[in-house]
Amino acid sequence: MTMDNGEDCCVKVAVHIRPLIGDEKLQGCEDCVTVVPGKPQVQIGTHSFTFDHVYGSTGSPSSTMFEECVAPLVDGLFQGYNATVLAYGQTGSGKTYTMGTSCRDGSHTGLIPQVLNALFDKIDTLKNQVEFQLRVSFIEILKEEVRDLLDPASSPSKVENGNGHVGKLTVPGKPPVQIREASNGAITLAGSTEINVSTQKEMAACLEQGSTNRATGSTNMNNQSSRSHAIFTITLEQMRKLDPIMTSDGSMIEDLNEDYLCAKLHLVDLAGSERAKRTGSDGLRFKEGVHINKGLLALGNVISALGDEKKRKEGAHVPYRDSKLTRLLQDSLGGNSRTVMIACISPADINAEETLNTLKYANRAR
Ligand code: ADP
Ligand code: MG
Repeated sequence: MTMDNGEDCCVKVAVHIRPLIGDEKLQGCEDCVTVVPGKPQVQIGTHSFTFDHVYGSTGSPSSTMFEECVAPLVDGLFQGYNATVLAYGQTGSGKTYTMGTSCRDGSHTGLIPQVLNALFDKIDTLKNQVEFQLRVSFIEILKEEVRDLLDPASSPSKVENGNGHVGKLTVPGKPPVQIREASNGAITLAGSTEINVSTQKEMAACLEQGSTNRATGSTNMNNQSSRSHAIFTITLEQMRKLDPIMTSDGSMIEDLNEDYLCAKLHLVDLAGSERAKRTGSDGLRFKEGVHINKGLLALGNVISALGDEKKRKEGAHVPYRDSKLTRLLQDSLGGNSRTVMIACISPADINAEETLNTLKYANRAR
């Protein structure tokens, strides 16, 4: 099951092992994850798993992750293929760091900023032949409700309700965001903000605005960012100006024989995969946990159904409708679209149980 040939449906799975971080070092944690030299194979205890790629902690350098895993998806966008990149793992395993969903990670550049670079570089080389229209949305799914992170009315200063809580998921009077399916199967988000952008700077500003909104919500709401899925979506529309299309070095662009193409790329920072703890007397936390698990559970089922070639050929049921997350990603998982899952793990022995769960989940996706 490869995606390099582009045509076949496929899910590529990579593991990203972060180094031991401050807290783990202070606690004297030991490294319990090993990578088989020269192979994309990870061992923990008596378990061994093989993936498409393994990055970090003596696997491939993380700096090659974008080129190997995500750049082909950005190229695919220009050929009209939808795509999804998912970061999976327990809270603290490096999902946000890997995706670059938060722009505040110092010198490190996550995948989303690298997507922006590649996207605008490519647009630059093609802009004489093709007219481009770019849109972004940034939403969060918490407790099976969709929250618009780019809603101008929900900037932190405006939704503060006086007692220090940013307690509402939606602004009063604003209808909730709804996931709709068009007759051609395209999924749209009714009621969410879609921002037209024409420069990389504008797109980066949207990323920053949404991640600020997400972070602000989380400090006031029991660290909800670990319980929610954050989805940054780039939609690329192309109208061909000339015929045929040549690049600056004189070669022809293949597969662009339509006058109009539209495709989207979802960049997903998933909720923490750890089991919800039964804390709080009102059961509220527990409810959140149950719902989040619903999204991750449904995602696991969808991806495993897609990865099973035999089942796929028999036209087996793919349970997209089991959660908001899979419903939203429906037209960008499977079919002609490309999917990459990056399983993020901590190497620390205290996290061994969750790390093993993550590797099992990721292994099921292959
Ligand atoms: P998550 O989003 O999965 O909860 P974070 O991305 O917030 O986890 O990462 C947790 C901590 O680990 C952060 O302080 C982050 O800077 C650090 N971290 C994560 N991945 C790496 C990495 N590959 N290299 C160095 N530090 C990392
Ligand atoms: Mg995070």
